[in-house]
Amino acid sequence: MNFDFTKILLAIIVFLFSIIAIKVTLSFNLNEYLKRRDKKLKGKIKNYCTHANIKNFDDVIGIESSFISPSGTTNWICEKCGLQIYHLDKKGEKRKFEYFFKNPKKFKKQEKKFQKLLKKAGFL
Ligand SMILES: [Zn+2]
Repeated sequence: MNFDFTKILLAIIVFLFSIIAIKVTLSFNLNEYLKRRDKKLKGKIKNYCTHANIKNFDDVIGIESSFISPSGTTNWICEKCGLQIYHLDKKGEKRKFEYFFKNPKKFKKQEKKFQKLLKKAGFL
């Protein structure tokens, strides 16, 4: 009788330990998953960013690049999404602005998706 009791107690202890072990691995995996999801989302945000702002230049609506070059560096960083580039292709930027200017609906659509992703990632 006594022997059985210790066996049961041991079984309970083993059971408890296994629960703890499962919990630890679960929370660990969850953290990994969240981190991976975060990384994926940040990549998506950078993909959907227009890297441009619509601005009013003396009553004329124009498109302005959101890339800035912080002093002391030659890199360019997008103010909106944080994308870092080492060389700003000015011709490419101009082409992009012209495209958005001719297709304002595309700009709005992309901007909408970008805002949605920002919200999803908790930036807004
Ligand atoms: Zn950007």
